[in-house]
Amino acid sequence: MSQRASDAGTPLLQVEGLVKHYPVTAGVFSREVARVRAVDGVSFEIAPGETLGLVGESGCGKTTVGRTLLRLEEPTAGRVLFDGKDLATLPRAELRAVRRSLQMIFQDPMSSLNPRMTIRDIIAEPLYVHRIARGEALDARVVDLLEKVGLPGAWRNRYPHEFSGGQRQRVGVARALALGPKLIVCDEAVSALDVSVQAQVLNLLIDLREELGLSYLFISHDLSVVRHVSDRIAVMYLGQIVEVAPAARLFEAPAHPYTRALLSAIPVPDPTRRAQRIVLEGDVPSPMHPPPGCRFHTRCPAVMDRCRRDVPPPVELPGGHVVSCFLADATPQDGDWKRATEERRISAEAARAKERQAELQLGGPSRSLASEGLGSENLAEPSTPAWVARSFPVALVAALLGLVLLGWPGSREARAIQQHAGLERELRGFAEATGALPEGLRELGWRLQEVFEDGKPVDPWGQPWEYTQGEGGFSLLSFGPDGVAGGGDDIRGAGG
Ligand code: SF4
Repeated sequence: MSQRASDAGTPLLQVEGLVKHYPVTAGVFSREVARVRAVDGVSFEIAPGETLGLVGESGCGKTTVGRTLLRLEEPTAGRVLFDGKDLATLPRAELRAVRRSLQMIFQDPMSSLNPRMTIRDIIAEPLYVHRIARGEALDARVVDLLEKVGLPGAWRNRYPHEFSGGQRQRVGVARALALGPKLIVCDEAVSALDVSVQAQVLNLLIDLREELGLSYLFISHDLSVVRHVSDRIAVMYLGQIVEVAPAARLFEAPAHPYTRALLSAIPVPDPTRRAQRIVLEGDVPSPMHPPPGCRFHTRCPAVMDRCRRDVPPPVELPGGHVVSCFLADATPQDGDWKRATEERRISAEAARAKERQAELQLGGPSRSLASEGLGSENLAEPSTPAWVARSFPVALVAALLGLVLLGWPGSREARAIQQHAGLERELRGFAEATGALPEGLRELGWRLQEVFEDGKPVDPWGQPWEYTQGEGGFSLLSFGPDGVAGGGDDIRGAGG
């Protein structure tokens, strides 16, 4: 999958079919018995001044990509072109000169700084090695770099343990900037920091990018962080890139089921909103034995027969969006992906139930009946899925707890107020998206699911919410416990 940089000019970095396999050996003669396919055919580009975010679960190969780019690991195959030069084949002497333009910020600022060296020596080391400065000029450059990352130059004779985590990472940034790089690989650069310190370091990286025209490859497992800094985001799964898109587009209309599952795991900072988490079943397969066909098929909620057989080709969607999934074309581009994913999951669940039924009737495994189109004609009578049976005791306890809490006098009112706030929010969201308020609450569609468990706009006393809309806005009314409009127990509100 070639992932083009958004910039029309010559890319600063071009990665083509990058492969990194680690041999697994055994026996007296260290015979190779298997291979860990850490990176398996990764391609992307980064334009000058651009930040590409690289995200994925732990162990998906994103750090190996970063290290292989800098030739901290030797690539097994593929090309890495930096400023038109192939780093993978460059002789050591030439590579050393190019390395000035390519730097890395590591995850753990404590272990990446030598505890026996002062901050001055740590930052001065690359300047010294590359013979860029000596004596007073070297000292002045260190002070300048420290001040650039927001640390007083007077602290240069301190040791790493005398700094906080955020300050140590600033030292790491200063060291990366020492040789005037064009591209910095940030490998989980803020993951080890507190949230408030993360924001400071991220803002520092953004400011430096603007000031010095830097490009970043920003590797992280945290999608919120990546969104904050990236122009484009590439999503990796089991050694391959499965989706790449401009950051805003990826969050609005993710097209790959894996990306959707990752996005659904981001916490919603709103207690009145019900998170619609897509929980992936099973573990990530071993990179020693990646599944055939689509590598995600063992966990995909929308898996089809062909996914187990064929490798999905990259599909180009509008807006520089590239996805490797057979269903990419069918993905709605209106941002209504949660509903679409849920529909696909239900269809796939039904198809699998049908398959299991057929197996039981035949007394053994049968040919897979999972449909390729996942259309309504393939829906079977749903049977109880295994996970429902497994989680039944937990669900029962949760339901009993919920009954106790919700049945308690007064808690229904709290629930109604919560529903009211949620409805108000979804009505505003609907009006923003369509330019008009809905005729009735039913028109909110999947948005109702965000507020009501079953999508029915019924208040905690079993009465439907009263909704009226006019030119000035809308009003919402719950009759309250007495079920009569006009009582002092009504819960009402309006918005526009
Ligand atoms: Fe799921 Fe098939 Fe798409 Fe892979 S190709 S992500 S298994 S639907």
